[in-house]
Amino acid sequence: MIYVAFLNGYMPPGGDGLTPRLAESVPSQLEHLPVNFDLSAYYSPERGQYNATLILAHLLRHLPEANAKIVGLTNVDLFIPVLTFVFGQAQLNGPGAVVSTYRLRNEYYGLPSSPALLYDRTVKEIVHELGHTLGLVHCRDFSCVMHASTYVEEVDLKEARFCSDCSAELSG
Ligand SMILES: [Zn+2]
Ligand SMILES: [Zn+2]
Repeated sequence: MIYVAFLNGYMPPGGDGLTPRLAESVPSQLEHLPVNFDLSAYYSPERGQYNATLILAHLLRHLPEANAKIVGLTNVDLFIPVLTFVFGQAQLNGPGAVVSTYRLRNEYYGLPSSPALLYDRTVKEIVHELGHTLGLVHCRDFSCVMHASTYVEEVDLKEARFCSDCSAELSG
């Protein structure tokens, strides 16, 4: 089971329809799970951002059962200490991941809002991070959801699905 955790009542684009959409791309049962905890403890005043690694560690305490996975959704700006920002973070072959929509929004780049684009990007980033929890590393196929994305343009280039090689690895 993979739990999709909407953090602190944050409703990501697509709302309740997001979890069934993810189930089309990820070969696992998914369920929506509301999770609440105070993110302010993980805020870095120097950076004006939230520490993704610490949020992820806290999120794991909300894992309802062993052998399940959990992906947290938030709209705060995430970082890990070695990087300027991250769209998300995951534990390779581990139980947890976290994804933020903060830098997936057109408005962040001074462009007109696009709910459809935000929804697509959110689906792709969640599927990508879940792929890591399922043991996949980055893929060289630029259309594969496991292709690494530093910029939102790269997110737009890829599709919300695993390429045949990555799919084979998941089912193998
Ligand atoms: Zn990645
Ligand atoms: Zn691939």
